[in-house]
Amino acid sequence: MSGSESRAQAVFQVTNSEPMSVKKPKSLNKIWATDVFTLTKMEEALSKKAYRAVKKTVETGEALDTGTADVVAAAMKDWAMSKGANYFSHVFYPMTGASAEKHDGFIVSDASGKAITEFTGSLLIKGEPDGSSFPNGSIRVTNAARGYTAWDPTSPAYIMHTDNGATLCIPCIFISWSGESLDKKVPLLRSNSAMNDAAQKVLKLMGEKEVSTLNASCGAEQEYFLVDTNFANLRPDLLLAGRTLFGASAAKGQEFDDHYFGAIPPRVQVYMQDVEEQLYRLGIPAKTRHNEVAPGQFEVAPYYEASNVAADHQQLLMTVLKNTAKKHGFICLLHEKPFAGINGSGKHVNWSVGNSTQGNLLDPGKTPHDNLNFLLFCGAVIRGVHVFGPLLRAVIASAGNDHRLGANEAPPAILSVYLGSQIEGIFEQIKEGKLDNADEGGLMDMGLSQIMPFAKDAGDRNRTSPFAFTGNRFEFRAVGSEQSVSGPLVAMNTMLADSLNWIADELEQELKNHDTTGAVIAVLKKLIKEHGQVIFGGDGYSAEWHEEAVKERGLKNLPTTADALPYFKDETIKTLFSSTGVLSPVELESRFEVYSEQYILSIEVEAKLMIRMATTNIYPAATRYLSDVSLAASSASELGIELDKTVATSVAANINGMMSAVDKLSEALAKKDHASTEEHMQFCANTTLILMNEVRSFADALEIEVADDLWPFPTYHEMLFIK
Ligand code: ADP
Ligand code: MG
Repeated sequence: MSGSESRAQAVFQVTNSEPMSVKKPKSLNKIWATDVFTLTKMEEALSKKAYRAVKKTVETGEALDTGTADVVAAAMKDWAMSKGANYFSHVFYPMTGASAEKHDGFIVSDASGKAITEFTGSLLIKGEPDGSSFPNGSIRVTNAARGYTAWDPTSPAYIMHTDNGATLCIPCIFISWSGESLDKKVPLLRSNSAMNDAAQKVLKLMGEKEVSTLNASCGAEQEYFLVDTNFANLRPDLLLAGRTLFGASAAKGQEFDDHYFGAIPPRVQVYMQDVEEQLYRLGIPAKTRHNEVAPGQFEVAPYYEASNVAADHQQLLMTVLKNTAKKHGFICLLHEKPFAGINGSGKHVNWSVGNSTQGNLLDPGKTPHDNLNFLLFCGAVIRGVHVFGPLLRAVIASAGNDHRLGANEAPPAILSVYLGSQIEGIFEQIKEGKLDNADEGGLMDMGLSQIMPFAKDAGDRNRTSPFAFTGNRFEFRAVGSEQSVSGPLVAMNTMLADSLNWIADELEQELKNHDTTGAVIAVLKKLIKEHGQVIFGGDGYSAEWHEEAVKERGLKNLPTTADALPYFKDETIKTLFSSTGVLSPVELESRFEVYSEQYILSIEVEAKLMIRMATTNIYPAATRYLSDVSLAASSASELGIELDKTVATSVAANINGMMSAVDKLSEALAKKDHASTEEHMQFCANTTLILMNEVRSFADALEIEVADDLWPFPTYHEMLFIK
């Protein structure tokens, strides 16, 4: 079948597809967390003593004794087997950002050959997968393969179903034999505890008598694209790279803003409901769904949870989105920039810190000017973003996210903080050594009697800011859609820990000479004088800001991953992580190596694929077309009709241009003598990617010249607009 015939068939299939028939969703209270081994289920299954011990661990992170672990394991196995599970799996989160799982049966056979089931505390607590094939960034040599997975009781175990059975999944950490973290969970747990230690100090100095354990919370908004499988299967780039490496823009894109919050297409809505039902069973509180800005783009946002649980749930949510898409005849693209010329996908990470005694410390309340705890925590975030901006940039750095950051659709690669007029006003006063009162949001009254007046927020939103205060939390808006939220959460918790430690030291001094309010003003005045230049409420997309940020405010503009990742080796960042105990220098270095390698690999795999598609699909289609038009011209000429040669000339020029760019790209890929990882990354960013763009520009020009029936790949308009 020629490319066009298979395309035509795909169009036919897609046009005739119906929403998949699924069972009517059950009511929420019937399905909520039915597949989760929740505290409530443990309360029913365990003795009072064992239950109290587990609950304490979940709430405060306190250690659990092995006796209790045995009892929990037995109850967990009984529950899982009652749901049809014969296998259990330690689920862990390696540095690739993916989730990993190794399955083991509950089965053991006794001396007489009878099959019995067994699941002890030690099996629950520790697993030992062969860790050698996971990236470890030189933490160990290749022949030292031992890795351990260890149960994290603070994130609940759950059941994953297939049509043919069920598996008990146990969230775990993943470490090397020598005890170094090879994963994304250990640093997250450590960063939360570093933040808690520092926050306790500050709150105690503020005269708080009772301060319960503080936890960071996270609510992550996930954007994604859906493309029909009939189209995706004809696009090697979508299947292997998760994005289109070629593709001319459709005549219509997103310029009418008619997709954002538009009516959700029926096939997609059925898919979403299927996803939501599974999420509810897994105890993931999916709350918001809508069409996003680009055609074919959607969003799901769960309600926020404790950051460790939210991070595990985020990984699970991505798995559910992808697996369920297959069932509904879609491919779910989580890549940050699947299509050129229209918006890419991000993952806004909403983040706050709080506890049961003081509540959310980033909630300003009605009178923020006399909420001193809030002002201190907010100030701590401001200082954190200023001092550790490059770290925040580095933890969102990836080959995919580079296509999006700074492309006038996503926040720029410069890290600044948006506070809104009310909070910004208060910090302006503090700079002058005062703290009077704050602007209030006031009432929105439209003067229409049928519309009830409502309380207005004290500040507008700023969609161009990478790090925005949004009323009772900060929203880190520059995170990539495909990324694990752990990296960003670790960076935020750790920078907050460092700032709170700094504040505690300063506050202790100032309290010797001032009352509490006076001391807080003195500390924050110093803080804002040193770090206030990171606050910016204007247009983050504008050229003026890029200029001002770098030249006048000394902020860093790190446009690519190649520029950002080397900051993992920076002394400031090393000291931050070792002083807070979140990552040892070896663990930090290994992250640099793993993420750099992933960046280089992503680009080089894409480049290889591009060469293959250009050579074996696009070149043949274009030369066939050139031969058609040339033949038509010579036949016409025999009849005395002269055809214009412009099209043939242009096609020939684009074919030659594309193939010569392909040659240069092949040469670039063949270069192996890069002096260092840093140089190799710079080469990818400044040579390989530029050559890929060159190949693409010729190929995309051909797409709108060559006869449509010869074009081998489904086009943008087919993939994005045929539903
Ligand atoms: P937006 O209007 O920014 O698109 P959404 O409603 O889509 O917002 O998502 C906001 C996210 O922020 C949700 O996940 C929500 O639960 C989360 N969120 C709300 N309050 C907090 C908080 N205090 N801390 C952390 N996350 C929060
Ligand atoms: Mg949203």
